[in-house]
Amino acid sequence: MEQFSTTESVRHYVWQQRSQGKSVGVVPTMGALHRGHLSLVDRSREECDITIATVFVNPTQFGEGEDFGRYPRTLDEDLHALKSHGVDAVFVPETSAIYPDGFSTYVDPPEISLSLEGACRPGHFRGVTTIVLKLLLAIPATHAFFGRKDYQQWKVIEAMTRDLNVETKIVGCEIVRENDGLAMSSRNRYLSPEERERSLLLSRSLDAVGSMIESGVVDADLLQCKMRSTLLGEAGKGVDKIDYAVVVDADSLAPVDRVDRPVAALIAAHVGSTRLIDNTVISEKVSR
Ligand code: AMP
Repeated sequence: MEQFSTTESVRHYVWQQRSQGKSVGVVPTMGALHRGHLSLVDRSREECDITIATVFVNPTQFGEGEDFGRYPRTLDEDLHALKSHGVDAVFVPETSAIYPDGFSTYVDPPEISLSLEGACRPGHFRGVTTIVLKLLLAIPATHAFFGRKDYQQWKVIEAMTRDLNVETKIVGCEIVRENDGLAMSSRNRYLSPEERERSLLLSRSLDAVGSMIESGVVDADLLQCKMRSTLLGEAGKGVDKIDYAVVVDADSLAPVDRVDRPVAALIAAHVGSTRLIDNTVISEKVSR
């Protein structure tokens, strides 16, 4: 597995591959890798001749008071996992290679970034669009793989690359979960055993919405009430704070009154000091 730390060296490698007619997939990550990340690697290896993973904890997408300082950094284990998953190259830049002295240019994120995560985490998506565009300039890949675990992020990146004529194809990949339903996340390691138990309420709440829609409930208020009551649980046994628990149009993320088209149920909630997100898309069995 090749390892690069400068944009020049990785770009040179990518162009070498592409000039031989090879497709190149890139999997951007912040490290602390788990099976969710590795599923993106597997998908890239299925679809592309060459797979490059990036590991960079991007400071500009963390807000003040968020977990940038304590974000898990496990580079040795990450490199080992990537190598054993057959990754061809990794890009692990220093912060100064991405944000040189005097850096002041950002990508203004698209409209779809304004609600939900964008409203709860001001500046977050500006950091995301900026780093993703910078990575795609350093790594002019044919394909880039993102998890639908970060559903709005995937939509934001799709819109940004469309709006800016970036040629890389954006591929959204299924959410990988633990056996008990918890969506895998680098942040799950912050959870104590008791918090880990309560964090299951996110996926349970999404399951409840799925079942209600399947049984014919189409009223978005009813569905959202059920999500909230499931998340809050019995006294003291629920999540500590709900940022949002909504049913929205699966493409535009606009609020809906009724489930009369494909919808996404999206949740962000705090358990202890950990902020978790999860979602499900319900596109079948929609009554019209
Ligand atoms: P992160 O390291 O958290 O920035 O995530 C890097 C990529 O992995 C993003 O595209 C995430 O959406 C994706 N990802 C994270 N967790 C999961 C998961 N449980 N299932 C699928 N993709 C995931």
